[in-house]
Formats: sequence, C-alpha cells, structure tokens
Amino acid sequence: MKRMDYSMGLFVYYFGSKKKYNDVAHHTIYFGEAYEKHLDKIFEKKILSDDISYYLHRPSATDPNMAPNGQDAFYVLVPVPNNLSKVNWIEEGDKFKELVLDKMDKTVLPDIKKNVVSDFYLTPDYFEIDLATLHGSGFSIQPKFSQSAYFRFHNQSEIYRNLYFVGAGTHPGAGIPGVLSSAKVLDKLFK
Ligand SMILES: Cc1cc2nc3c(=O)[nH]c(=O)nc-3n(C[C@H](O)[C@H](O)[C@H](O)COP(=O)(O)OP(=O)(O)OC[C@H]3O[C@@H](n4cnc5c(N)ncnc54)[C@H](O)[C@@H]3O)c2cc1C
Repeated sequence: MKRMDYSMGLFVYYFGSKKKYNDVAHHTIYFGEAYEKHLDKIFEKKILSDDISYYLHRPSATDPNMAPNGQDAFYVLVPVPNNLSKVNWIEEGDKFKELVLDKMDKTVLPDIKKNVVSDFYLTPDYFEIDLATLHGSGFSIQPKFSQSAYFRFHNQSEIYRNLYFVGAGTHPGAGIPGVLSSAKVLDKLFK
C-alpha cells in the first residue's frame, strides 16, 4: 500500500440557491487558466491553488423536486491535493469555500454569493476520518497504467484464499460502474 500512488482529494461544496439558473446544465465542467500547472500543484507539489477547475452538478436541472419551488440545488466538486499535503482543512476550509464561491460568481453562477440559502462542505478530512479512506483520497489509488487491470489490488488475496476485496481500490477500479463490476467479479469467483 505504501508504494502505490493515491488519487487527489476532493473539496465538495453543497449549496441551495434562491436564484434559479435555468441556463446552467445538469453537468458543467469548468477549466481554470493553467490546467497543467494546476494538476502539478495537486499531484506533485501538493499545495492549494487559487486557479481551480471544477465540476458543477445541478440536479434540479433534470428533477425540479430536488429544490423548493423557484430555487436551485447544486454541488461543486473541486479537485485538491489529498492529505499527504498536510493542508490544515480546519484553517483552510472556510477560506477555500469563499474562493470557490467567488470563482463561480465570476463565471457560471453570477450573483451566487448573495443567493445561497443553505450550504455545507466536505474536505479530504471527511474522506480520511469519517470514511476511513487512506490519505483522504477521493477515488482510492490512481487509475494509472501500473495500477490498473492486473496491476490493481486483486479481488482475491493471493495469500489468504478466503479473503476477497471489492470496491473502488480493487480491480477493475473506482466509479460506480467499476465498483459494481468488481462485485460481479466476486460473484463469479464465489461460484
Ligand atoms: C463527490 C463524488 C462524486 C462522485 N461522482 C461519481 C459519478 O458521477 N459517477 C461515478 O461513477 N462515480 C462517482 N464517484 C465515485 C464513486 O462514488 C466511488 O468510486 C464509489 O462510491 C466507491 O464505492 P466503494 O463501495 O468502493 O466505497 P464507498 O462508497 O466509499 O463505501 C465504503 C464504505 O465503507 C465504510 N467503511 C470504511 N471503513 C470501514 C470499516 N472499518 N468498517 C465498516 N465500514 C467502513 C465507509 O464509511 C463507506 O460507507 C464520486 C465520488 C465522489 C466522492
């Protein structure tokens, strides 16, 4: 486990808005100014960046019942370094939330700062402390070539043959389709 490379951390900000953004789609991906440098800060330097990129989720675009009448529901997912960075999220959390709001206010959600009605956020500390995720990574080990397919953690232990593994960190990988596939693999192994 020590020699594996881990995925990024996630800052996830959930918020409701009393202003409706009818022209914002269900899924929006926003790229910052210097995307490559941003990845370098997340994975190599492991520092927070002002120049964020983010995924904005607006479920009320598809299902109006996700928000009260005339309002909108969102979450924004911002990739950040995982907790190997030693970022102090208790100190940085509120500041980072303001940065994220500021960026959205200037880009896809004009005036959002004065229209938020309720909110909360999750940091890599939540993933590490509440979900017991190593280093607070958002998607377990990185899905790079040397950690994919056969090179990922196998679904059956090679040492203890009655020990099985399922979920994002194992073969075939993270994401709901990957996790469900790993359950299907186990189903076959048991037969
Ligand atoms: C914000 C966000 C958005 C995402 N969006 C998408 C998406 O759009 N599409 C997609 O395909 N994937 C998405 N993913 C990825 C996907 O959610 C994960 O890959 C998937 O949920 C991992 O499933 P899992 O069962 O391996 O782990 P988890 O869903 O994390 O479940 C593991 C559970 O085990 C519990 N646990 C940990 N340690 C112990 C213990 N010792 N004893 C008992 N219980 C324990 C944890 O609390 C947790 O509930 C997203 C992830 C995040 C964080």
